Amino acid sequence: MCSVAAVDFMRVVKNSVTVEELFEDGDGYKLWDADLWQCPDCGAQVITGFAREPLAEHWQPTYHVQRDRLAPIYPGRCRAAKSN
Ligand SMILES: [Zn+2]
Repeated sequence: MCSVAAVDFMRVVKNSVTVEELFEDGDGYKLWDADLWQCPDCGAQVITGFAREPLAEHWQPTYHVQRDRLAPIYPGRCRAAKSN
């Protein structure tokens, strides 16, 4: 993982990725707009820069439509966006 110093070298890989915050059982809870960053040295990815308000919440009738439209979705239960 990145040291604190390495964080300074992280770069934005992609602006405006969609993160799905999940319930404990894995069901969708909220969709968030955020930025994907990556360390050029070790490839570790983090998502930060979350919007103040979610794009959608699970109780909204359009939730699943938005989820499909905004794919790919990064699951929000773990700190890293991807392990590879
Ligand atoms: Zn790193």
